[in-house]
Amino acid sequence: MRRSEITIDLAALKKNAARLAAAVGGAELWAVVKADAYGHGAVDCARAALEAGARALCVATAQEGAALRPGFPGVRILVLGPLAEGEEQIARAAGLEVAVSSPRFPDGLPVHLKVDSGMGRFGMSAEEAAAVDPEHVVGVMSHLATADEADPSFAREQTKRFAQVAERFPAAVKHLANSAAALRLPETRFDAVRCGVALYGLSPFGDDPAEHGLDPVLRWDSYVAAERTLAPGESTGYGRRFVAREATKVGLVPVGYGDGFRRGLTGAEVLVAGARKRVLGTVSMDSFAVELGPSGAGEPVTLIGDGLLAEEHARHLGTLNYEITCGIVSDPARADRRVRDG
Ligand SMILES: *Cc1c(COP(=O)(O)O)cnc(C)c1O
Repeated sequence: MRRSEITIDLAALKKNAARLAAAVGGAELWAVVKADAYGHGAVDCARAALEAGARALCVATAQEGAALRPGFPGVRILVLGPLAEGEEQIARAAGLEVAVSSPRFPDGLPVHLKVDSGMGRFGMSAEEAAAVDPEHVVGVMSHLATADEADPSFAREQTKRFAQVAERFPAAVKHLANSAAALRLPETRFDAVRCGVALYGLSPFGDDPAEHGLDPVLRWDSYVAAERTLAPGESTGYGRRFVAREATKVGLVPVGYGDGFRRGLTGAEVLVAGARKRVLGTVSMDSFAVELGPSGAGEPVTLIGDGLLAEEHARHLGTLNYEITCGIVSDPARADRRVRDG
């Protein structure tokens, strides 16, 4: 059995892409594959998304875009983040398009004007945008701060501000929505939606993705490499955070925070031979301990998959599903990564 096995289900990704494309009606679906497709593998996920009808790719950095270009000639690739020194040349050489937040435009690059409609992060003000010659831009975009929250009022306000700026650029492609907005705020859809998290079958709202018709794309498995029985008073792991009250059989799983199984997951659940069991004691860099039932050494351990959701780990840690999958280490020295397609 493998110590850390990451399985990417491209059939699920295609189903999610088709679900999103259907949800947004006439708007184009653009696949956000930054951060190695949120830990899922950018090249595989980009290919599957395009096969399922996505019309463009979005990345955070020029280097991410340049790495995709050879596999996807002729596909629009948009860099969402700011270009640092020297990166304009990389973007030009790779034929990328870039989001630009200041009135100073880079030479020889198709530009999407990034407007700050309320995120308070990157983007130029409405006044600055009004001074831009429409001939110089191929796109106008903004980003929503609260699309995943129950109260839609601020997202609606941002949408109104964006629409006012965007109407000055009749020929430009207009795009505002992320996954959350694409799924539940129809007025944010404009010409294209930029979807990341939902494509990977993760819920933008942190709840069960099935409620939104989404299937998780990633599963993560390991195994019980050894078992031992703790006598009453004996502990397992750093800091003696789990001390057995009675004779307790524990399994040692050879995955830890060095693999992206976060140290805060003490007490969280994983599946041992399909049954929910608790993580016991402190998660180490390369291993953690788990409750064992009748099962023992050699049994499969599912860290994410078969109904055990990344969203559960996120809730346990007080973070987002995004951060969970981005943190899973797929370096071949630590993990085996497999890709299935149907
Ligand atoms: C990451 C990102 C997205 C995708 O957001 P999801 O919530 O993953 O769909 C869209 N737009 C911008 C500007 C982004 O940075």
